[in-house]
Amino acid sequence: MSHKSIAIDGPAGAGKSTLARRLAEKLGFLYVDTGAIYRTVALKVLWEKADPADPIQVIPLLKGLDIHMTYNSDGEQRMYLEGEDVSGAIRRHKVSGAASQVSAIPEVRSFLLDFQRKLARENNVVMDGRDIGTVVLPKADVKIFLTAAPEARAKRRLLELEQRGEAADFLEILRDIKERDYQDEHRAASPLRQAADAILLDTTDLDLGQSISRLLFLVKEKIGL
Ligand code: C5P
Repeated sequence: MSHKSIAIDGPAGAGKSTLARRLAEKLGFLYVDTGAIYRTVALKVLWEKADPADPIQVIPLLKGLDIHMTYNSDGEQRMYLEGEDVSGAIRRHKVSGAASQVSAIPEVRSFLLDFQRKLARENNVVMDGRDIGTVVLPKADVKIFLTAAPEARAKRRLLELEQRGEAADFLEILRDIKERDYQDEHRAASPLRQAADAILLDTTDLDLGQSISRLLFLVKEKIGL
């Protein structure tokens, strides 16, 4: 029997990870946060003091890249770089920008493509990212495009950073979010866009509980789970 896959794409801060993870939990599927994988590549680039925007410096680092992931018993995805648990480090603000830059490099994307497809071949997955419905899993059983107004996304990210004890400024975050949206939407390699057969879910005026209910409803309606 082939495995089921649910693709959740959308811009930064739309609540993809939280919602995708909750959805996976409810369905008993594996949650795959593909942004975390790009972030781990970006961290390696920063570790090497290379420029994340420069393919000439980034591409050689892919060879021998030692990344792996594990799952806790509660389904939490943990990322390891060269054996070190970097799940916290990859969430730093600086890594976000670098991830957006390395992910614009086609060689980085193709390097990670097989890795992501293999996970979906071997498991029922809820996979979140930017190009899951368009490129990675074009035949996903359900495709959701999750979005929210930039201001709502910035407010959520601010709270998230504050909860982690990182100092942050609303306007700076808003600017970063808009900059990342622009980079993600305008890059030549797998730009962020809604797949033609994806369902749009705008969470600007929905709280977490409402978003989850809506998402579950859409998914159940589509694949009758
Ligand atoms: O989702 P998250 O914010 O963790 O992703 C970090 C960066 O990785 C994004 O800004 C985006 O540029 C990139 N990314 C991507 N394709 C994916 C997932 C993330 O290009 N499937």
